[in-house]
Amino acid sequence: MVVSLGIPLDENSSFLRGAAQAPQQIRNAYNSDSSNYWTENGINLKDNPNWLDAGDLKLSRMPGVFHEIESEVSKHVDSGHRVLSLGGDHSITYPIIKGFARKYPDLNILHIDAHGDLYDDFEGNKFSHACPFARIMEEGLAKRLVQIGIRTYNAHQREQVRRFNVEAIEMKDWNDSTTFTFNGPLYISLDLDALDPAFVPGVSHYEPGGFSTRQVLTVIQNLRADVVGADIVELNPTRDINNVTAMVAAKFFKEILLRMI
Ligand code: MN
Ligand code: MN
Repeated sequence: MVVSLGIPLDENSSFLRGAAQAPQQIRNAYNSDSSNYWTENGINLKDNPNWLDAGDLKLSRMPGVFHEIESEVSKHVDSGHRVLSLGGDHSITYPIIKGFARKYPDLNILHIDAHGDLYDDFEGNKFSHACPFARIMEEGLAKRLVQIGIRTYNAHQREQVRRFNVEAIEMKDWNDSTTFTFNGPLYISLDLDALDPAFVPGVSHYEPGGFSTRQVLTVIQNLRADVVGADIVELNPTRDINNVTAMVAAKFFKEILLRMI
């Protein structure tokens, strides 16, 4: 069983708030009459018995909120479910991965993002959305971290890449024939700003020169891996235009869900 879980937190966003409104907007887009519930390879997700929507978490504030996320995720993971989380800003990935770690000590992570999110701290916040993968790697919560789409590494983050043995394929080096094989369980962390802002106006950080929607879909559809968990983060509905970014998020929701059921 796959459980989808809304995590409406944007308190650790460094530039703009708004991502807390994203889970409901992604659901609205998923349910929009403008499209249907079928995946591209012909599976109907509507009333599909292999997944359920657990709704949005009721969250307090930092720092307790991280414990609430971890314990909710681990409750589902420990009972044998796979969890597809809808953020929220990217800070939620650290407590989510903590919720996976006990059951999956050899977790692989595929991180798709314009940013490495590897800062040791960002503007004094160790739990900023710019830091989750530093926390995950220093606690040894992932066996392997592969980052793709990145186009913002600074000197500090390049040092962090070396320190944590991150497998980084920067956007400037991307080759469309690249496919990925992961041995053991895989977690996909998809920050929507990995895409070019032309495709996703509804994100907080515009970083030109990114993926097309189709390129990311192709990566997901061609993965050779057992996908046990995933998140889709950083939709900011306050910046969106005609819900186009929410529709992109809902498209990824469907295609990632398919990989998990
Ligand atoms: Mn990110
Ligand atoms: Mn990002």
